[in-house]
Amino acid sequence: MDVHSALKTSASYLEIDAANLRHNVGVFKELALEHGRRSGKTPLVGVVLKANAYGHGLLEVYGACRAHVDICFVILASDALKIRDFETRNGLAPRRIVVIGALTLDEVEELARRDVEVTLGDDSWKDFIETLRKRSLPSKVQVHIHIETGLSREGYLPTEMGSRLSFLKGALDVLEVKGAFSHFANTEDVTEQDYANHQLALFDEGLKVLQDEFQLSGLERHIAASAASLVLPGARFDVLRVGIALYGFWPSVETRLSAKIVLGKLPSLKPVLAWRCQSQIVKTLATGSYVGYGCTYRCPSETRIAVFPVGYFDGYARMLSSKSHVLINGIRCAVLGRVMMNHIVVDVTKATKDDSENVVATLLGQSGHESISAETLAGWAQTIHYEIVARLGAHLQRVVIES
Ligand SMILES: *Cc1c(COP(=O)(O)O)cnc(C)c1O
Repeated sequence: MDVHSALKTSASYLEIDAANLRHNVGVFKELALEHGRRSGKTPLVGVVLKANAYGHGLLEVYGACRAHVDICFVILASDALKIRDFETRNGLAPRRIVVIGALTLDEVEELARRDVEVTLGDDSWKDFIETLRKRSLPSKVQVHIHIETGLSREGYLPTEMGSRLSFLKGALDVLEVKGAFSHFANTEDVTEQDYANHQLALFDEGLKVLQDEFQLSGLERHIAASAASLVLPGARFDVLRVGIALYGFWPSVETRLSAKIVLGKLPSLKPVLAWRCQSQIVKTLATGSYVGYGCTYRCPSETRIAVFPVGYFDGYARMLSSKSHVLINGIRCAVLGRVMMNHIVVDVTKATKDDSENVVATLLGQSGHESISAETLAGWAQTIHYEIVARLGAHLQRVVIES
């Protein structure tokens, strides 16, 4: 565990396994190639880096996988600009970036100047066109049209595109329509994909409207996130938008089951993240001592505890109170009492010999032969693994390792 001693932090930190990240990209590269061998068209592999790359660290993840991916998808303009600045600082060739979130006019302009593609999914664009024309950008703004197919979030229903998108016809001097896309509502929640198939039919309808009424053909089409990329071959189209699976997580148990059936064998997704923390204090409490706010835990016998400087501020959910374990020297140790804003207290009686030495806790990830997954934490905290990782504090130090 050399990496621990090399760290200059007294707080908790995240290890990002670059090799496993690239392995997971490789799973989708292979899936895309296989799809191409059968259908004649190999989809591009796009990765979703929103929410600070699902809490793993935007630039750490981008840096580790950029050479192996075709497109990066983000929600915020600021994330796209962070990637462009990172490329400039490090003398790297720019990769394709598509912003899938809503934007202000100024953001659209800035992104276009930095060669970032954007999405058109609501009526605010109607008012942008005239100003964009006046600002005379060096090239057209490259947009992907968001087709609403049943998530009821962004985009235009095929039936309303003819009227609500009519402004587009007079805007092609400033906009270049590069693609069209949509997003599934429940591919990961089911093993029967009836609703997804209904969404696919609407997507086709939307594409047909763009072709027939707007003469927009040859668009780059994309709708598949992780789950659909894996289990709905008919949804792969021209680009995959892989989020959660890039980080080594199955979207759900249902997706895993379906993948086994659809693909014949399960691709191996490897976890990328470990969350560790060095203890601040190790000490022995007398029988009957209370631990933490609310005095919710009382030691039934003499108990050696370790105090760790990590809490719900860092993303260790308060809902984990009195439920979770951490790993110390490969041994499961209970978190005692409530999770505090910046601290947890752990029973280390069985994992240590005396009070003399500080210990490293693994809050998430592997230690010895034991591991605690984001899914396990999510179960304890009554949420989903997506939320567990997305809420990891942006302030936490992220250390990229090669396993
Ligand atoms: C988050 C998101 C994805 C990725 O979803 P995963 O289930 O994490 O793979 C893809 N497309 C859009 C539009 C998204 O918002």
